[in-house]
Amino acid sequence: MERQGAKGDGPRHALVGNVPPDWIPGTAGDDVMTVHKVRDGRPVCGATGEVDEWRRAITCPACLTTE
Ligand SMILES: [Zn+2]
Repeated sequence: MERQGAKGDGPRHALVGNVPPDWIPGTAGDDVMTVHKVRDGRPVCGATGEVDEWRRAITCPACLTTE
């Protein structure tokens, strides 16, 4: 029995096999252009302001370096 293409299929392999993140994307305060990782209702980078949840990619550099 042989299997092919199980690995090395491209960048997508980095997105599978991980546990779901415990944060959601969201903006804080008046800055709606920067999307943070929001965990327990707060941006993980410490940004302040009222949090709105978004279904967008994270754009905050500080949040991107935080797990
Ligand atoms: Zn952030």
